[in-house]
Amino acid sequence: MTAKIINGSEIAKTITAEIRLEIELLKERHGIIPGLATILVGNDPASHVYVGNKVKMCNHLGIHSEHYSLPSNTSEEELLTLVERLNNTPSINGVLVQVPLPKHIHESSVIFSIKPEKDVDGFHPVSVGRMVVDDPSFLPCTPLGIQVLLERSGINTEGAEVVVVGRSNIVGKPVANNMLRKAHNATVTVCHSATRDIASHTKRADILISAIGKPHFITADMVKEGATVIDVGTNELGKTAEGKRILVGDVDFEAVKEKAGAITPVPGGVGPMTIIMLMSNTVKAAKIAHNLL
Ligand code: NAP
Repeated sequence: MTAKIINGSEIAKTITAEIRLEIELLKERHGIIPGLATILVGNDPASHVYVGNKVKMCNHLGIHSEHYSLPSNTSEEELLTLVERLNNTPSINGVLVQVPLPKHIHESSVIFSIKPEKDVDGFHPVSVGRMVVDDPSFLPCTPLGIQVLLERSGINTEGAEVVVVGRSNIVGKPVANNMLRKAHNATVTVCHSATRDIASHTKRADILISAIGKPHFITADMVKEGATVIDVGTNELGKTAEGKRILVGDVDFEAVKEKAGAITPVPGGVGPMTIIMLMSNTVKAAKIAHNLL
């Protein structure tokens, strides 16, 4: 069996067109322009690229974007003052602080200071708590992207054995909690670095989601015949002669695709979904702010 390749780039492209139209209608019918503020502290090159892509995507979609690039010696107090100002700015519906932050700033204090109504990254404990108690909330962008990939590929989670490898706060845990919600009704197992015999768990999975950051960790013998395999891992193996990043996932794609029923590639699987889900959360925040949801 050769797996169906779940083309995240194509799905993200379709959703981009849908969101663009939704924003046009919001403007036309209600005079609403969703707004996203992005804050970057310091000079981390990867963070610059990530935030730059978010700003570009806002411009492409017609989302009002305000970007704040602060020097690495910015104090926690200064950063909190800026977040507070954006919390109280009506034209801004989402506030995103790019992590990692410089060591002298407490990441959690800053994330906690974002108004939950503007927490479009879904990392605020109020958003996390709402997800866990199955209340409507902003879901973190990568877990939401995985949910949408599954939905749009016609993969049913109802009663399915979902095994998540990795338990980080940004991917593993929220993916697991989301799949446990009534809307998805999966039976969920979470593996991590202290799990004994990981393969005994992964081999049971109807849907296997790997988010650990280890190239080719998931091999074909760890996968059940016909399973859906979602590879969140994004591991850089080096650069091409042209300076392009060589990326691979956590999954041994070539071998696993011969056994799985469906699989996401890296690149072009989960990755492109994350940024468009941020845009989707921003539009949702704008609608909630104007009592349209
Ligand atoms: P992270 O914070 O480093 O967490 C990694 C998790 O994997 C931890 O829970 C760790 O277990 C577990 N782990 C590590 N080695 C393991 C092993 N040998 N066996 C079992 N579990 C192991 O990473 P992350 O931020 O979740 O990211 C994971 C990967 O996804 C990275 O490659 C990252 O680049 C990628 N990513 C992609 C996207 C996207 O949009 N495509 C978004 C976010 C992240 P412990 O908790 O026990 O240490």
